Amino acid sequence: MTTAVGFASSVHRDRLARAARAASERGVEALLITPSPDYAYLLGYRAPVLERLTCLIVPVDGTPALVLPRLEEPLARHELRELADVLTLVPWDETDDPIRLVQTIVAGALRVAVQDQMWARFALRLRAALDPTELVEAGPTMSSLRRVKSPDEVQRLREAALAADTAMSAILDERFAGRTEATVSSHIRDLLLEAGHDDAGFAIVASGPNSASPHHEAGERVIETGDAIVLDIGGTRAGYASDTSRTAFVGEPAPEFAALHAVLRLAQAAACDAVRPGVPCSEIDAVARRIIDEAGYGAAFIHRTGHGIGMEVHEEPYIVASNPELLQDGHAFSVEPGIYIQDRWGARIEDIVVCTDAGGERLNTTSTELSIVE
Ligand code: ZN
Ligand code: ZN
Ligand code: ZN
Repeated sequence: MTTAVGFASSVHRDRLARAARAASERGVEALLITPSPDYAYLLGYRAPVLERLTCLIVPVDGTPALVLPRLEEPLARHELRELADVLTLVPWDETDDPIRLVQTIVAGALRVAVQDQMWARFALRLRAALDPTELVEAGPTMSSLRRVKSPDEVQRLREAALAADTAMSAILDERFAGRTEATVSSHIRDLLLEAGHDDAGFAIVASGPNSASPHHEAGERVIETGDAIVLDIGGTRAGYASDTSRTAFVGEPAPEFAALHAVLRLAQAAACDAVRPGVPCSEIDAVARRIIDEAGYGAAFIHRTGHGIGMEVHEEPYIVASNPELLQDGHAFSVEPGIYIQDRWGARIEDIVVCTDAGGERLNTTSTELSIVE
């Protein structure tokens, strides 16, 4: 499946040049990038992930090369027509050994970096063929580029968030009691598409005791009055991801649950408000965790506070106690503390926030109050 990511070719020229620079700063002589979000980030199209090797080689010096199966060449030539002068296509025939082609191109390199999601069959064959060249992960190089979003990328995240908000508002206006989680979930997927997503990635509907399981798969449980419901939904729009969570209660909320949710809401807002350049990721986590701890729910907040978001739903920077990385203008990530009381109920509130010089910009704008539904 090919989905144009749709930035100007100048953006991709710049990204290729910056990738080569970032690689050289790590003492890497070439990046080997197979079809993946990294590949789409650099080249602007999503090549199919296949058993036949497609591999973009970005050398520190010289022209990038794209080793690809002959049958993929017409598509690539079309998708990459505006990059033709900065990229050499190296098609291989069915009886050729593509690993040997890559080997010829990077011959003599001391260290090359392979894309993190490269299939083991390629990575292992490359390691054998390139020996004694050292193979390292390309992740640190690629994420150093991808974690800082350009204004165009932020705009796409904003539009994706708006589409998710539209779907969230629509579902929270509906009746829940008597429907199964699975029915609500499949309806949310339709709403995500109607609101402008290109694909409806996920729609967690966790009701009653299931709401205490953060990644619950929507199932056949019938939702009833007195249930807490965690909704965690998102998809992809124009190549960029959305991800938002809200919590609802069916009928008059139990006072104990309302109190829990009020603490969570305070913690989530405080963490969003703490976002500004120079603050460590660990501190955003700590701000949320302190409030939840002090209210006595510390042991019930069982995951990190958030994750970066961009072309992938989960990417760097991670908002976790062990990450000392300093936030900077252009970082985009979720702020999603949760409180989960096993076998009883749970709650999560999630917004995507972009760090700007003026502080955090929340991309999700629906109310974080506990929604009361029927
Ligand atoms: Zn998650
Ligand atoms: Zn989520
Ligand atoms: Zn998330």
